[in-house]
Amino acid sequence: MNAFFFNTAAEAGKWIIQTVPKGVSVGWGDSLTLEATGVKEHFRNGPYTVYDRDAAGNDTVRKEEILRGALTCDWYLVGSNALTENGELLNIDGRGNRCASISFGPHNVIFTVGVNKIVKDLNAAIERVHKVACVANVKRHNLRTPCSLTGECSDCTVPDCACSQILITRFSRHPGRCSVLIIGEELGF
Ligand code: SF4
Repeated sequence: MNAFFFNTAAEAGKWIIQTVPKGVSVGWGDSLTLEATGVKEHFRNGPYTVYDRDAAGNDTVRKEEILRGALTCDWYLVGSNALTENGELLNIDGRGNRCASISFGPHNVIFTVGVNKIVKDLNAAIERVHKVACVANVKRHNLRTPCSLTGECSDCTVPDCACSQILITRFSRHPGRCSVLIIGEELGF
């Protein structure tokens, strides 16, 4: 995997725009950090095939099609719930589409990660996700989970559970497939 450091989300966004070639297909996962780079509008308005879940609105069938399309796009853009000092990326997903696209399918994956996501090790990463990231995200998406009410993880299996899949990404057997952009700002949850 390649790693880069940028002082700001805007600088990371500039790198993404310069790196992703025109004419390719681009998909993305839900990420406030990616949002902060400002690249989504660039791809929506440019010569790209875009898998943009926001375009589906309340149309659940269309949304499912978009998520499935993103599984095989050329470039997949995503955040990360945590990044360990040892270089492992940890992502937890309710539906699993993000974890799936990170693992296999898209030819290239770009992670955008604010410095607030850096933790000591995998135990700290999982703790961070349950105590910080998930609680904030379920509230953002109005999901009905125990943590959205209490602010505490109770290891739930309710229908809206945001922690169905847990993915640790520690290596890529496809050289250069993954680029990790570490950004010197506090971004996302
Ligand atoms: S309560 Fe459920 S959704 Fe909330 S952090 Fe724990 S496992 Fe995830």
